Amino acid sequence: MTVSVVLFTSDLRVHDHPPLRAAAEGAHEVVPLFVRDPAVDRAGFAAPNRLAFLADCLADLDQGLADRGGRLVVRDGDPVAEVRAVVRQVQADEVHVAAGHSAFAQARQERLRHALEADGCRVYVHDAVTTVVPPGDVTPQGSDHYAVFTPYYRRWCDEPVRRPFPAPRVVRVPTEVRSEKLPVRTAVPGVSPGLAVGGESEGRKRLASWLSRHVDTYEDLHDDLAGDATSRLSPYLHFGALSPVEAVHRARTRGGAGAEAFIRQLCWRDFYQQVLAARPGTAADDYRPRHDGWRRDADARADLQAWREGRTGYPIVDASMRQLAHEGWMHNRGRLITASFLTKTLYIDWREGARHFLDLLVDGDVANNQLNWQWVAGTGTDTRPNRVLNPVRQALRYDPDGDFVHRWVPELADLPAPAVHQPWNLTGLDRARYDYPDPLVGLADGLARFRQAREAG
Ligand code: FAD
Repeated sequence: MTVSVVLFTSDLRVHDHPPLRAAAEGAHEVVPLFVRDPAVDRAGFAAPNRLAFLADCLADLDQGLADRGGRLVVRDGDPVAEVRAVVRQVQADEVHVAAGHSAFAQARQERLRHALEADGCRVYVHDAVTTVVPPGDVTPQGSDHYAVFTPYYRRWCDEPVRRPFPAPRVVRVPTEVRSEKLPVRTAVPGVSPGLAVGGESEGRKRLASWLSRHVDTYEDLHDDLAGDATSRLSPYLHFGALSPVEAVHRARTRGGAGAEAFIRQLCWRDFYQQVLAARPGTAADDYRPRHDGWRRDADARADLQAWREGRTGYPIVDASMRQLAHEGWMHNRGRLITASFLTKTLYIDWREGARHFLDLLVDGDVANNQLNWQWVAGTGTDTRPNRVLNPVRQALRYDPDGDFVHRWVPELADLPAPAVHQPWNLTGLDRARYDYPDPLVGLADGLARFRQAREAG
């Protein structure tokens, strides 16, 4: 009788899961294991929205395994120690795990390999589980990663993508392995009221509906803030409740300009993963330092707080920040506008913004969050590091009827577009009708401050 252990991390699904498939095909019995690691909490990654979504994902994974005769084993503690204890108990010969690319995941893999191989147990680290193309597989000459997206995308498109694997038909779990109780979403305090439901079943349903009904309009509507016409698949991809390989494969089968544009966005995930894998320090350090002397005084702290609370006086910024607080998710155009506003118009360190996003985003992800923030701040991979998004122009273009602002800033609900995007232009009694703050800073002043600081740097 042979037994394998599958350590689940950011890959909470049964479909297209190479480690689970390899274990189920190669051994008589499998222990599907998820370890709640207190080090993740200590590192500040255990935000309520993600804990609640994780609880949904684990419950659904348990059900997916139960449908195949198995169950999920959940443990609390250090993953290496817990895997080792299970391996010893069931005398497993193999451990299967998906490759992770953050410094944290890489260190965990190394420790796992080291500890288990000393016990005579082989550790298999599987690629192309959390990304489509593994970091390092596509590199330019003379470097270990691409620093610019477009050439990476061209090469990425030419890479062969493996076919998705079906879920295993049967998963037999040894009866003697104990499990802690699964966490429940309702027990997590401080969750955003509009948080999406997590889990592989929900993710697969959304992918199917997205590809059959909505993807065709994606290319034209993806920036329309009120239209909300993007896939909203990011949390399912973040937790691995959905396989990026399967998403690309099915989108390619679907075909069309919308599907191609969607696949291009999925490539951004891989792009940032390969940057982070090669430069793990960029989770905290500037990828390309600009010698910024970010504002840090009491005024800056007050501005930061107003930004967090959606009270900057710029309706499009405030609407987006309030969407984040309510849903634990923000539209990509909103993320670009609010991040540019914080880092360039207010000249506040991108790390402050990234931290707030990670506190709330259900899809909050070290690679995507930190490196997108750096892209906007001009310390990352953007080839035009000093571009500044004008929030009024962005609002007029991407929320022309003001519907997005009306939805999230009820104080301005009866103010029609385009005036709703510049309420400071109202005078006298008209202005007094609206209980809405004045802008924290004029756009011209903010721009001048930013340019001066970058020149000085
Ligand atoms: P769609 O438009 O439907 O795109 C499909 C998928 O492609 C997304 O689900 C996502 O996985 C991927 N994708 C799309 N755009 C990007 C991008 N720019 N970078 C990387 N992947 C992308 N995305 C995260 O998943 N986690 C984060 O923590 C995160 N933080 C961000 C912070 C800032 C400042 C900015 C500007 C962007 C951030 N993004 C992040 C990228 C992007 O905003 C979201 O992935 C997207 O809005 C999710 O919505 P969607 O699933 O409807 O995307």
